[in-house]
Amino acid sequence: MMTPNKDLISVEEAQKIIFSKFNSLEIVKKKLIDSSGYILSKDIKALFDLPSKNNSAMDGFAIRHQDLEINKTLKVVGRVGAESVTDHILQKDEAIRIMTGSGIPKGADTVIQFEKTNNNPHKGDDYPDSVTIIERVNKGDNIRMSGLDYKAGQTVVKSGMLITPPIIGAIASFGIDEVPVIKKPTVSLISTGNEIIMPGQKLKEGQIYDSNSFAISSAIRNSGANFKMHKILSDNKADVEKLYQDCNQSDLIVTIGGVSKGDFDLIRDAITEKGNINFWGINMKPGKPLAFGQVNLNGKEIFHIGLPGNSVSSYVCFELFIRPVLMKMQGLENIFRKTLVAKVDKEIKNNDGRRAYLRVMVSKDHEKGYTASIYDKQDSNIFSSLVYSNGLAICPEECKVIKTGDQLEVIMLED
Ligand code: AMP
Ligand code: MG
Repeated sequence: MMTPNKDLISVEEAQKIIFSKFNSLEIVKKKLIDSSGYILSKDIKALFDLPSKNNSAMDGFAIRHQDLEINKTLKVVGRVGAESVTDHILQKDEAIRIMTGSGIPKGADTVIQFEKTNNNPHKGDDYPDSVTIIERVNKGDNIRMSGLDYKAGQTVVKSGMLITPPIIGAIASFGIDEVPVIKKPTVSLISTGNEIIMPGQKLKEGQIYDSNSFAISSAIRNSGANFKMHKILSDNKADVEKLYQDCNQSDLIVTIGGVSKGDFDLIRDAITEKGNINFWGINMKPGKPLAFGQVNLNGKEIFHIGLPGNSVSSYVCFELFIRPVLMKMQGLENIFRKTLVAKVDKEIKNNDGRRAYLRVMVSKDHEKGYTASIYDKQDSNIFSSLVYSNGLAICPEECKVIKTGDQLEVIMLED
């Protein structure tokens, strides 16, 4: 009987504990032009009918339908552009040149486009004083009624909706240029390790580049949140004491590395000194060592998630435990990635009782449905496995062998 994982909590338990600690952040005012991707925090109502007046859908002539006959010539008594109005009330056998968006003159009930008359668009003021009808149109044609889009008082966008470019356009139509939205979280991101240096510097013996903070910071940004990149911490105690410097304006602290049981792994001690650890260690691979705690920084409680240092472990843990929290803080209702079920293309062994997240490339075939092609190297430090994949296939804890063609649930890593 296998019992090596008795101190580890399950992925579900870890998610439940972490997610329960976070709520949507406070409401802030945002310039409408910068509000794409935020969650709106108040209903927006139509301030007036949109369009505000009956107007022309075409460039052509405003006419009375009862005057319309093929080959009949009407008298052109004026012209209106999108910005202008005319007081003239259209009389029998009269027409007014009218452009798209212009208000319909009184007495007119139809617009006939240039193409159905003998007239063409005309730039100067010396437009022809008559127009002959070539083709018929129906009564009311080419008139856009006021309020067709939104009626005054109608809800345009409901509170809680994700602001998209079309929503920004609809709100702007009412002259509104600022909206209340839910604030986006800022994550303090700190890499740790004596061997870690920033890309751009020359590598000395024993050193490796900080690839993880690059991947994780980009993933934070892709999830709609902001990050603050801190200086890399070395593993000595003096440096670790500086860990929380400049973190107290952030909504979450995320460290990378230093969280295992090695001689130089100091993150758990750092959390315990400033606060308390909620749990350490999850029954999964990659990603077993993950610390979740809470620290008190000058009276402010901030949560700290200590990600494991191995690249794939940190990325998978970000996907499972941090991305949903960032979504929740932004006020999004659906905080999870899409999942699907796919047949695996080779046999997998899973002997240590941990839940495995396999890096796979899912493809869809008309007949066979979804197939998950498993990357051949699944170690926790193999970045190429993530570069290759578009999904994480979940191999359950108790499942020792998955056979070729068996179905697994896959978390899709793409939107
Ligand atoms: P640790 O958990 O600190 O023992 O790190 C585990 C492994 O991940 C070690 O091989 C580290 O060198 C590596 N590692 C830790 N942090 C990073 C990072 N930011 N970028 C790339 N590799 C890292
Ligand atoms: Mg380390």
